[in-house]
Amino acid sequence: MKPLVIAIDGPSGAGKSTLGRMLARELGLLYADTGAMYRAVAIAVVAGNVSAHDEARVAEVARRARVELSGDPDHIRVTLDGRDVTAEIRTEQASRLASVISTIPEVRRELVRRQREMGRSGAGVVLDGRDIGTVVFPDAGVKFFVTAVPEERARRRYEQDHAKAPALTLADTLADINARDLRDSTRADSPLKIAEDAVVIDTTELPVEEVFARMLEVVRERQM
Ligand code: C5P
Repeated sequence: MKPLVIAIDGPSGAGKSTLGRMLARELGLLYADTGAMYRAVAIAVVAGNVSAHDEARVAEVARRARVELSGDPDHIRVTLDGRDVTAEIRTEQASRLASVISTIPEVRRELVRRQREMGRSGAGVVLDGRDIGTVVFPDAGVKFFVTAVPEERARRRYEQDHAKAPALTLADTLADINARDLRDSTRADSPLKIAEDAVVIDTTELPVEEVFARMLEVVRERQM
């Protein structure tokens, strides 16, 4: 049987990774956080003292970077060339830089190739990102597009982050979300868009358990 591929796309802070982990755990599938791969390449760019605007060199860094995602869905460990970068990829700087380098077509080509390999292994995989249902796996068994209004996504992100970065304000977080949305949806290569056959879920007013139950229902319907 072909491995089951579940694609979860949507803007930053919509709840994709929480829901992706929940689905992977429930269904016994691998979970791949593709944003973590772009973030790890961003760390490699900084470590290599490369300018994020030098596209050829950033692409070279992406091709050479050994990025590994390991562990169960709730305890994903991310390593870059054998070094644990699980915490480092979540910093403000890594977020911003990942959003910039992910606009480079060569970087995308390399990471998409690796993501497709992940989809071929084992019982199946849940991937979350921006272009999973449109580019990486256009024939994914189930596609979701998870979204929420920017103010709500900023509120959630702020709640997660302000303990780690006390100087951060809600307005800063909203500005960052808006900037990343704009870059993700206007880049020439693989912009964030809703796949025609995706199930769209707006999580603005829904508790996570309710969204999860709805997604599980969709997956089970498709499997019958
Ligand atoms: O999802 P996350 O916020 O961790 O992703 C970090 C950045 O990587 C995003 O801002 C987005 O620009 C980029 N990304 C992407 N395509 C993906 C996953 C993430 O362009 N499939």
